[in-house]
Amino acid sequence: MAKDKEKSLGANLEENLTYKKKNFFEEATEEKVQKAYEYAVGYMKYIDDSKTEREAVKTSIAYAESKGFTEYKFGDKISVGDKKYYNNRGKSLVLFKIGKEDIGQNGIRILASHVDAPRIDVKQNPLYEDSGMAFLKTHYYGGIKKYQWTATPLALHGTVVLANGNCVDVCIGEDDSDPVFYINDLLPHLAREQVTKPMAQAIDGETLNVLIGGFPFKDDDVKEKVKLSVLSKLNEKYGMVESDFLSAEFSLVPSFKARDVGIDRALIGAYGHDDRVCSYPALTAICEDNNDKLTSMVILADKEEIGSEGNTGMQCGIYADLIDAIACAFGKSSALVRMNSKCLSADVTAAYDPNFAGVYEKRNSGMISCGTAICKFTGSGGKGGSNDANAEFVGFIRKLFDDNGVVWQTAELGKVDAGGGGTVAKFIAKLNIDVIDIGVPVISMHAPYEVISKGDLYSTYEAFVAFIK
Ligand code: MN
Ligand code: MN
Repeated sequence: MAKDKEKSLGANLEENLTYKKKNFFEEATEEKVQKAYEYAVGYMKYIDDSKTEREAVKTSIAYAESKGFTEYKFGDKISVGDKKYYNNRGKSLVLFKIGKEDIGQNGIRILASHVDAPRIDVKQNPLYEDSGMAFLKTHYYGGIKKYQWTATPLALHGTVVLANGNCVDVCIGEDDSDPVFYINDLLPHLAREQVTKPMAQAIDGETLNVLIGGFPFKDDDVKEKVKLSVLSKLNEKYGMVESDFLSAEFSLVPSFKARDVGIDRALIGAYGHDDRVCSYPALTAICEDNNDKLTSMVILADKEEIGSEGNTGMQCGIYADLIDAIACAFGKSSALVRMNSKCLSADVTAAYDPNFAGVYEKRNSGMISCGTAICKFTGSGGKGGSNDANAEFVGFIRKLFDDNGVVWQTAELGKVDAGGGGTVAKFIAKLNIDVIDIGVPVISMHAPYEVISKGDLYSTYEAFVAFIK
């Protein structure tokens, strides 16, 4: 651009009257881009260590403790300046920080994300042997395209409660020296019929059997030799017997590590960006925050991928109970605190993908690297099942982000009637809290390896910092 040349009237008007999305990398200073790349390093370590909700809760607690947070239990005293976390059954986590301003008047600033991700769960009586191989029967968790989970290295994560009541954590397939697990697929030579099937039917749910062994136990008196050798390994390492699967929670997740994607390293590929790519910014925002005025809370919920059910999901009363406990500690009515609270429901959205342009409406899609994406509404059909935030709250968020130099955009999950989805926002709205969806646009969401932009990750962090400070 010629710097001396004065802008024409039209160019001036155009600048003042029209709206155009900004690209984070074009907008940011070199220093900020550097910060975004550095921030990504911490994030990638976090997701590699947090492949299940249990692991995410553990790594998040360790991080929070390193920043001065301590455990809260119901009945504990709550005072100004407190930095606390509440561990809900090791599967969901709430962090809160008490500011000195009146929470009756200002409410609580809440960031709510989820730490579960689509995966392959192991059934309760899973182990069998067939044709020289041992397998585990599975039941997939969350919305997956089943064919994507075959012929790819998987790691086994989970927790087993043994007959004596002892709880043992299992993780096999993450260390480079570990074995991995595998779901078989059909060779193309014999797939003439399979490849003509609709994608949803090409791989049946009951064929998602996980290959776990192939070495026969050396004893001719044994009927199922490979199965026995698998059991003897599990027994040796974890003290397990077959019936312990009955009280186990095992999951198969991709064994890949998070990696930079692209020669310019602008993007990150990883399993489970949805929704740790919002959980990490929420966690780091509350832990790094040094404002002493506002009271803030971060919710890392479980079970979002299956409808936020169960006592670790967002529909559980525990989150309202914690708000009640905080309100009560300062002699405020919980209703008043909730009414004046504000929440960002932090979850990923679909990034516009030019390779599948037909399902998007480009003007209203989340564009990669155009910053953290606000979804006024989600849902499907005629906004069915959506929270649909009010214009006043969108206006509040818009001004907040603009005042704080956050690169942000609005997004809709696909074009009208192409499909749809929902998040935890509607469950928070039930508590009479203003809430809106916000998050990082994701390419190939729910695939074993998803892609996001470092610019969107960092702008989401900046948005959360601005929201709670
Ligand atoms: Mn999600
Ligand atoms: Mn999801």
